[in-house]
Amino acid sequence: MEVRIHQGTITLVQGDITEEETDAIVNAANSRLMGGAGVDGAIHRAGGPSIMAECRKIGGCPAGQAVITTGGNLKARYVIHTVGPVYQGGTKGEAELLRSAYLSSLRLASSHGLKSIAFPAISTGVYSYPLAEAARIALKTAIDYMQEHGDIEKIRFCLFDRRAYETFAEELRGLQGDR
Ligand code: ADP
Repeated sequence: MEVRIHQGTITLVQGDITEEETDAIVNAANSRLMGGAGVDGAIHRAGGPSIMAECRKIGGCPAGQAVITTGGNLKARYVIHTVGPVYQGGTKGEAELLRSAYLSSLRLASSHGLKSIAFPAISTGVYSYPLAEAARIALKTAIDYMQEHGDIEKIRFCLFDRRAYETFAEELRGLQGDR
């Protein structure tokens, strides 16, 4: 599914983010930047040790913020590592932290002159964020950013399974209706 926003496009695809050819792919990292399960493990496996070497030098990243490293052996030139919130019922500022994780990643892409970026569904795996709510926050943040900034031309959401893809598609149709 693809929608035009201002001068850019937002695209939803089902697949493995390590195969994306955008300028940067985003990693749903943990705050120690030490790798782990899920998309984080997949990115380090596919990208090779140069990514972890830079993560070690950076040392860590609080929830809601983002850092950038090389893309190593990936097709993407950069990996932007952001840390989403662990979902604890929704009353611990999770929504704002999730929005901030997407926004910090987009700002970092802009400040590096990047034109395209691919996101996974941050916090919806091990961190247990409810999928529909997470999708709405992700898409709304991306749409607002594209409307306010002309520099990023392509934002892709690379959803790993059918359920995540369908949920993002439904939320995107809903947000389109609101515009
Ligand atoms: P978090 O700790 O932020 O919840 P996870 O990696 O556990 O991060 O999950 C985030 C999302 O990434 C989940 O929806 C999961 O299905 C998805 N995911 C796992 N591996 C990949 C991959 N290779 N490409 C894209 N998405 C992936």
